Amino acid sequence: DNRKMESIKDMIHDVTVLLGPQAKLKGIDIRVDGADKAQINCDRSQIKQVLINLLKNAIEAMESPGFITFYVKDSEEVVKISISDEGPGIPEEIIHKLGEPFFTTKQTGTGLGIMITRQILASHQARLEISQNEKGGSTFHMIFHK
Ligand code: ADP
Ligand code: MG
Repeated sequence: DNRKMESIKDMIHDVTVLLGPQAKLKGIDIRVDGADKAQINCDRSQIKQVLINLLKNAIEAMESPGFITFYVKDSEEVVKISISDEGPGIPEEIIHKLGEPFFTTKQTGTGLGIMITRQILASHQARLEISQNEKGGSTFHMIFHK
């Protein structure tokens, strides 16, 4: 297969270059914080697809200028990549529907991004967790076991 040790910061850099212009148009700055040297054993293009799906959702969710922040945490047992936005957050009543095929609240959404994200993560023995930020917005956590 195509799996090898890949730098998280490198992959985040690539997707930030790709979607940076779209963020900039909305006055959004993308920040990266945390472990510089963290690596995971993965298929680089698949994990970049996951990062693109979540970053795109974060950009689309933001209604006014602000920040999207990637946090990378490297501990003994897991590598955790989190992406936090300053959008409206996710209403309690729809949170369980995220990742159902074709579930979208967007006029031109496909409702496939989170489903694909979950599938790719599952094939990497990783999982997706979603939390709501105290100050508004959501955070999507990708948790990889070492
Ligand atoms: P799509 O982006 O095509 O709608 P996704 O599977 O990527 O499909 O997302 C499904 C739904 O989850 C979105 O339509 C939106 O309602 C919700 N969602 C996803 N990410 C966010 C986010 N960062 N903030 C608020 N809602 C979100
Ligand atoms: Mg999407």
